[in-house]
Amino acid sequence: LRLWVRDYCRQNGLLTLSIFAVVTGCVLGFLLRSLNLSTQAKIYFSFPGELLMRMLKMLILPLITSSLMSGLSAMETKASSRMGVLTITYYLWTTFIAVIVGIILVIAIHPGTGREKDNHHKGSGPVMTSADALLDLIRNMIPANLIEATFQQYKTDLVPVVKTTEKIVEPNYVYIMPDYNDPRLGHPVFLELTPAPEVQYKNVPGSSKQMNVLGIVIFSATMGLLLGRMGERGMPLVSVCQCINECVMKIINAAMWYFPFGIIFLVAGKILDMQDPSTIGEKLGMYTVTVMAGLFVHGLILLPSFYFIITRQNPFPFIRGLLQALVIALATSSSSATLPITMKCLLENCGVDRQIARFVLPVGATINMDGTALYEAVAAIFIAQVNEYELDFGQLVTISITATAASIGAAGIPQAGLVTMVIVLTSVGLPPDDITLIVAIDWVLDRFRTMINVLGDALAAGIMAHLCRKDFPNSRRSTATSFSGLP
Ligand code: ASP
Repeated sequence: LRLWVRDYCRQNGLLTLSIFAVVTGCVLGFLLRSLNLSTQAKIYFSFPGELLMRMLKMLILPLITSSLMSGLSAMETKASSRMGVLTITYYLWTTFIAVIVGIILVIAIHPGTGREKDNHHKGSGPVMTSADALLDLIRNMIPANLIEATFQQYKTDLVPVVKTTEKIVEPNYVYIMPDYNDPRLGHPVFLELTPAPEVQYKNVPGSSKQMNVLGIVIFSATMGLLLGRMGERGMPLVSVCQCINECVMKIINAAMWYFPFGIIFLVAGKILDMQDPSTIGEKLGMYTVTVMAGLFVHGLILLPSFYFIITRQNPFPFIRGLLQALVIALATSSSSATLPITMKCLLENCGVDRQIARFVLPVGATINMDGTALYEAVAAIFIAQVNEYELDFGQLVTISITATAASIGAAGIPQAGLVTMVIVLTSVGLPPDDITLIVAIDWVLDRFRTMINVLGDALAAGIMAHLCRKDFPNSRRSTATSFSGLP
């Protein structure tokens, strides 16, 4: 028994602790809610969780740049372009399937009818237009200044503008892009504004400094490909990248022991801050059920089936190896912040070839968000149903295309999908203000859709390892490999 306990602790100790931490965080959060802590007390209480987020975010930049540069530099042009094309095609395909699943479920369940408590606060101006969001996506692909790209302020962040007039009796909720420097741990800030007699504009310059991951991915991938073509002359930089990569992995290994502790406070802090759950009406409840059902079908039935059909291997041991990353995704609601742990799980537990993981994961964390796409389609149709707005087939096709595009444009940060959903709403003439209908529950759904986003990226890496096994002879799935084996 002692041996079994020792083996179990060695293999699953951290994972068990992390799951235990999520549960403890939930219980603690609900218990402390009754104490009505002051804002100051909540900030102090959330501090260990804030440190966890900071640790993960600290690792994103060195991990992405070193992974892509060293990974792609070691690949043949033909092999890398084949893997690139396969990966992007697979990502687009699964995202589109996720959207279709969402559309079928929301039409079948029809959550937008029923009794409703009116939590709908009209009056906040449009957060951004779809043209703004698309331009932002393209703009971010080409960062004008690389240093600045590590703390870029998105153009659309400057747009949140609020109008309140004396006629508005209820408070307005205004969406402001997540602020990683905010003590509330990078979650979007919903300002509650009391009615003001005149038109009031609220701008938040400098409030949402966050990394432009897409720009960094594109630059690092280009550099990696070019370094590979330079042969001997490129080797010094490649070795530097390999060293950085190895160090990052070692830091992750050490930081992992802090995670369970941080998770307790991260989850409890969020629960302390959340809106009163009794304000959630029947429609919103059904909408939550629809999104969760969609995530379940896509994440636990369709994606594993694709994995099985393509690789002919049982997907569940592979998914089991990813559990640690899934728990971190649940706790942080950020697929970018989870990236270091996903990488660790893929290499250590799932035996995916390092070169493949180094390309497929960072690209996936940036553009492949199946959970977000599904949720955006469900949310848009739900909003149409609540407004008793009939969508024709053409509009459903528009929603499926724009939801796919909006998920590609969403950053891997908490509740980014809520912002890019404006693209979907405006594309079919729905009022962007109506995202306020789903705000109350969004932080919960965000955690689950982030898990599916992470799962989608990781399964894609497993599938690419299988499809590209001839190009990368080591890419066969093996049993656990050790980080000490990194170059
Ligand atoms: N939080 C999600 C992620 O990081 C994005 C979103 O759907 O809001 O993957």
